[in-house]
Amino acid sequence: MSDHPTEWLSAYVDQELDAAEREQVERHLEQCESCLATVTDLIEMQAQIAHFYRQVEAPEDLEQTIMKVLDTESTSSTITRAGSAVIPLFGVAALIVLFSIYGSILVKLFSFVLQLVITAAYVMSHVIASVPALWIPVMGLAVGLTLISGLSLRRILRSSAQ
Ligand SMILES: [Zn+2]
Repeated sequence: MSDHPTEWLSAYVDQELDAAEREQVERHLEQCESCLATVTDLIEMQAQIAHFYRQVEAPEDLEQTIMKVLDTESTSSTITRAGSAVIPLFGVAALIVLFSIYGSILVKLFSFVLQLVITAAYVMSHVIASVPALWIPVMGLAVGLTLISGLSLRRILRSSAQ
């Protein structure tokens, strides 16, 4: 064979040739040292690339690293499990503390509102008693109501007398 199947060599190494092409290349390689050297180089290069990718994809300590991570996770989940038993106790304690705080606040709020109502009632009565502008209409209303009731009472008495 006079011409070298240069363009087939890498395809041959990559095992991308069909049976006829493969046989043709192999027959050529038996005779041509230069093409055999090229194929040997290509195989070596491919092996190095494969080795490089194997190193990148899976470092030797990857499994150990994963096992370490899993160990750490299981340890932390054990802590979490222990914590989940403690958390309700903390929750109950927090509820008791919150209830005592809010209870005292409610008592304070209730007494404050009660004091406010008493104060308002005292202030209102004091204001009504001390301010003539308010006392006069209130008294006038009271007098008016008394007169009206007295007049209606007299009318009722008169109508019943007839
Ligand atoms: Zn050749």
